[in-house]
Amino acid sequence: MSGCCSDNEGETLVFTCAGAAYSGQVANRAGVDLMKQGVGQLFCAAAIAAERPDKLERARNAARRVVIDGCDDDCARRILESAGMPVDLHVDVTALGIEKKPEKPHILTHAKRVVDAVRDGTT
Ligand code: SF4
Repeated sequence: MSGCCSDNEGETLVFTCAGAAYSGQVANRAGVDLMKQGVGQLFCAAAIAAERPDKLERARNAARRVVIDGCDDDCARRILESAGMPVDLHVDVTALGIEKKPEKPHILTHAKRVVDAVRDGTT
């Protein structure tokens, strides 16, 4: 597993909102798991929002951009699109039936549900 900031073109990058809400944390956990599984490299949505030149270049060169948001505010998707980058696959965690603030959180089970949705290519 390589880190988020090595130089590779033609790659799949995975962005998550990493929001403070439980579902935002599920989104990020799913991104970490996808990276561990080799689906793509977890990348910094905040760096895109901050317009960091090296991160913008790498993101623009990506072959595929996968975005996971913790709710339908779609913050990470909006960051990418505001930077002029189309999103190839977008998942809203709550659209998968995972509540933003559930009474019974279970991050591993919920992250797996998100990972499966990304791997299936369904949103
Ligand atoms: S998409 Fe939802 S959970 Fe994620 S940062 Fe935005 S408001 Fe928070």
